[in-house]
Amino acid sequence: MNINQIKAGSIITKSKLPDADYVINPYIGCNHGCIYCYAEFMSRFTGHGNEKWGDFMDIKDGYPMPRLEKFEGKSILFGSVTDPYNPLEKKYQKTRELLKVFAESGVKARAEILTKSALVRRDLDLLTRIPNIRVGISLSATDAKFARVIESHAPSPQERIETMRILSEAGITVYAFISPIFPFFSDWKAVASEAGKYADEICFENLNLRGGYKKRVLDIIKEEYPEKYNDFEKIYSSKEIFQTFWENEAKVIKKFMKGKKYKIYFFHEKIKKA
Ligand code: SF4
Repeated sequence: MNINQIKAGSIITKSKLPDADYVINPYIGCNHGCIYCYAEFMSRFTGHGNEKWGDFMDIKDGYPMPRLEKFEGKSILFGSVTDPYNPLEKKYQKTRELLKVFAESGVKARAEILTKSALVRRDLDLLTRIPNIRVGISLSATDAKFARVIESHAPSPQERIETMRILSEAGITVYAFISPIFPFFSDWKAVASEAGKYADEICFENLNLRGGYKKRVLDIIKEEYPEKYNDFEKIYSSKEIFQTFWENEAKVIKKFMKGKKYKIYFFHEKIKKA
């Protein structure tokens, strides 16, 4: 792996995401190996040309620590195009360094962390001192074998659910991000039931396939699960089929989640907040 330390002018960037005013990405790149990673477009914008996403990691350095008074009341998401607890965080501790600023400032920014990693547990000492923080744990299915196929270097679904338990018992607000839902593979009802024991909110996002990773995902499904390939591929064969499938799925989710706190992010639009 090509690992570099790079000088960054700032560490907080304005965001266009629906639920985040600002984002913090302490790293460029991510080596969790998710076959559906939409963040790989970052390679082109960060001077990595045709380097394969996951084969390089830039560790941001040299930026001024954020003056959080400017962000009072704003939402700041850690990890929009990287996992802030990717394996390099164990050594470089860039996320931890920034969380210290949040813990020591007392400023009520609405910090949010989105990760797949159990490493977030290391920072419980800081997380419990940050007002308004939420930690989202993302997972797509409970099946460890399937998770290994789609996210080869990320912790197992069981470790992620256990992480939710530990965070929740430490008093941290936790949400589950069931994402991406793979049609015919993601047992989202089981994930929601299991995660719901510890999560305050369950968020759902569908699998979108576009650009360079569409072929990659289809090829891997064809190779690993040939018996399911035709049904899976059909969902992505036309806009109409795609739209109808996910509209129906959203209806099932709404029924299943009735009375509970949830959000659905399908078609990259917020459909409903309970
Ligand atoms: S954890 Fe997120 S950023 Fe990292 S490879 Fe997976 S989808 Fe991409």
